[in-house]
Amino acid sequence: MTDTVLDTMPDLATTTTEQIADLKAASRFRTPTDTTPKEGMEVVRRGKKLINFSSNDYFGLTHHPKVIKAAQDALDRYGVGSGASRLVTGNLPLTTTLEEKLADLRGTEAACVFGSGYMANLGIISALTYRNDLILCDKLAHASVLDAARLSGAKLMRFRHNDMAHLKQLLERHRDFFENCLIVTDAVFSMDGDLAPIDALSDLSKAHDSWLMTDDAHGWGTCGEALDGKAGKVDLQMGTLSKAVGTYGGYLCATKPVIDAVKSSARSLIYSTALPSSVLASALAALRIIQREDKRRAAPLAHAQAFTRALGLPLAQSPIVPIIVGDNRRALETAHQMEQEGFLVVPIRPPSVPEGTARLRFSFSAAHTDEQVEALIAAVKTLAII
Ligand SMILES: *Cc1c(COP(=O)(O)O)cnc(C)c1O
Repeated sequence: MTDTVLDTMPDLATTTTEQIADLKAASRFRTPTDTTPKEGMEVVRRGKKLINFSSNDYFGLTHHPKVIKAAQDALDRYGVGSGASRLVTGNLPLTTTLEEKLADLRGTEAACVFGSGYMANLGIISALTYRNDLILCDKLAHASVLDAARLSGAKLMRFRHNDMAHLKQLLERHRDFFENCLIVTDAVFSMDGDLAPIDALSDLSKAHDSWLMTDDAHGWGTCGEALDGKAGKVDLQMGTLSKAVGTYGGYLCATKPVIDAVKSSARSLIYSTALPSSVLASALAALRIIQREDKRRAAPLAHAQAFTRALGLPLAQSPIVPIIVGDNRRALETAHQMEQEGFLVVPIRPPSVPEGTARLRFSFSAAHTDEQVEALIAAVKTLAII
């Protein structure tokens, strides 16, 4: 009996080989390519030097000497690892300083640092919502928000992208049947570069006795005034240290009771080892630079807008600019052509974006020079990508 089952059951290697064949047939197979970071926004891939227009290092802080020095000093003083979860070995010397800095920058009473942005979303949402609650989430919100909603056990409904009439309708129809209601959106949408209407979301959440959470992984500091000063309007401001801040980690800024509750029940915080001191120190150094240097903060959006202006695209609202090519294979081919021209621009395909909207996603950094952006514009024109 057992033998027959074993004989007919495909083994793991066969099953995965078939999966890969299916993915390849749909131009959806992905493998990370070996890539070596160099100075500025240059990388080396397949032996060729490329200018990176796919990095989220918006302020060019990953290679900043002061940020590196802060990490080195922390390594020398406190070692490489952090040893255990914060609830076991306690806060490191820089944890509280970093949390106070984040709260200060986002205008809240308190903050909590997580291992990554993904872990922050998982921990925050599952700590605050349960089976009798409702989560209303923008259709294009980040995968980590959806994963978190599923983990929480709450009822998840998605409203059409940035469609406030649809959100209002869902609130009117369903809000009263649930205990608590959380509205979640990306502040800057990671694959489209457009912004959420925070003021309208805030009004709706207040009118319907709901909480508002923004995932600000790409937004904070990079979009001019558009996303500043929202502390009074947004109950939960989540963000990452992995992108504009140039290092690694995630965070939540909110009132003290919210932060205290999250710290004592977010499972991704409790059951995972804390960020090491070198990461905390580099994040702190980076935040100080961002706070001080207005020119650095303005540069990524200025580059993105120069790019959209030159190509007749809608004016960029953030440092992220998509050029939608539709077909998965075409996205792969154009990215390959861009690589031949000396640019790293990653093709984004489903399931990261809806079916039929494969795209090249360009992201701009303060570390790009005007000449590099001009060369990119010329290449996009030459290849007739639009
Ligand atoms: C990148 C990203 C995350 C995850 O942050 P990490 O620090 O990379 O784990 C969460 N939400 C959005 C919108 C993101 O773009």
